[in-house]
Amino acid sequence: MQASKYNIISKVKDSENYFIVNLLSQEADIITKEESEELLKFNGSINKDFVKRGYIVDPEDESRAFKQRYLEFIDARDTDEIQLFFVPTYACNFACSYCYQDEYGAKHKKLSYELLEAFFTYINQRFAGRKKYITVFGGEPLLNSPEHKKYIETLLLKANANELDVAIVTNGYHLKEYIPILKKGRIREVQVTLDGTARVHNSRRMLRGGKSTFEQIVEGIDETLANNIAVNLRMVIDKENIDELPKLANFAIEKGWTSSSLFKTQLGRNYELHHCQSEGSRLYSRIDMYKDIYELLKEHPHIKQFHKPAFSISKFLFEEGSLPDPLYDSCPGTKTEWAFDYTGRIFACTATVGKAGEELGTFFPEVSHHEDIILEWEERDVLSIDKCRGCALQLACGGGCASVAKNKYGAVNEPDCRPIRELLELGIGHYFNAT
Ligand code: SF4
Ligand code: SF4
Repeated sequence: MQASKYNIISKVKDSENYFIVNLLSQEADIITKEESEELLKFNGSINKDFVKRGYIVDPEDESRAFKQRYLEFIDARDTDEIQLFFVPTYACNFACSYCYQDEYGAKHKKLSYELLEAFFTYINQRFAGRKKYITVFGGEPLLNSPEHKKYIETLLLKANANELDVAIVTNGYHLKEYIPILKKGRIREVQVTLDGTARVHNSRRMLRGGKSTFEQIVEGIDETLANNIAVNLRMVIDKENIDELPKLANFAIEKGWTSSSLFKTQLGRNYELHHCQSEGSRLYSRIDMYKDIYELLKEHPHIKQFHKPAFSISKFLFEEGSLPDPLYDSCPGTKTEWAFDYTGRIFACTATVGKAGEELGTFFPEVSHHEDIILEWEERDVLSIDKCRGCALQLACGGGCASVAKNKYGAVNEPDCRPIRELLELGIGHYFNAT
């Protein structure tokens, strides 16, 4: 017998207690310091409770269980819904201070009805029989020209004809003008970004030319909710606007947004993806951002009404009373996520879409695939990445983001380590100490 390879043990933040989480045995407990030491420095003495809970195991049994759960994971993913991003333009009416797409664009090419037709033909063939939906992404997909509006309307009507839902990721500036068009489609949600309340948002997310955008976006959100269309409000966070989180939470509560079942939120970390951000020092590491959010939550508990952070699997464990399935792969790119653009190119996901050298093929004017590169993406999981195989965190981490790994190490089959242990320290502290 030995301590399980998948025990994640650490101290709960702001507590004398420790926690243990084991995604393979699907058990989690709050334990004492002595118990944590007993498991971390396992000396062969058998604690029957720990054996029962899969914290102490027969290594051969554990290896069998690991393989069995892996097969179940692959099978389940084969029936998961696929998210198909479509980029109708890389152009944008905003000049956000941190935009990573500002070097993109193929100005000699334009969206066409022929290309839209080819997109639907392609997805219906390649993903035949799979549950799927489209997410329209940019650049800014809701630009205000009559020609562009017609294209978006056509896309929505074609999605209707194919019984596909559509989500929209927009800066929200022209949302109000687009409502009559959106009402013609099967809109699953509209994702809009506010980076804080008026002054701070306007200093980061302004129109090209510098004009403020906050008021108009807020009107767009009001109008979208009033028309029974779901809104997913995203706040992109770095060190310059983190203090806006309690203020934006207040704003959303006072607006009545947080009491709508059509309203949800997400926090995005502003991070270096493709080219260097001019002011790297304002960027957070993932764990530093969540450490600050943990402190803000203690100081301003109303934030919880606006957003409940996942802190790895802590929120799930708290809300469901059980653990999520083991995560053998956290990167959906080429598995349950693909991205397509108006130039006819195919990419793995939103992190790579539009980036020269990241193309996986074309769907227009002809269909072509770089099968070798696609295969490399498809095979990426914690078993294919050498460094993940011995990692105790693997079934909570899933190997991280292939694009970040490639940017860092030059290949997708490399790790993008997530600070799982530290996130659990915070998350178990936040969700379980408070109760
Ligand atoms: S490469 Fe990164 S951004 Fe793209 S699907 Fe994978 S995890 Fe998501
Ligand atoms: S990416 Fe890093 S933390 Fe995640 S499973 Fe692999 S080695 Fe572990």
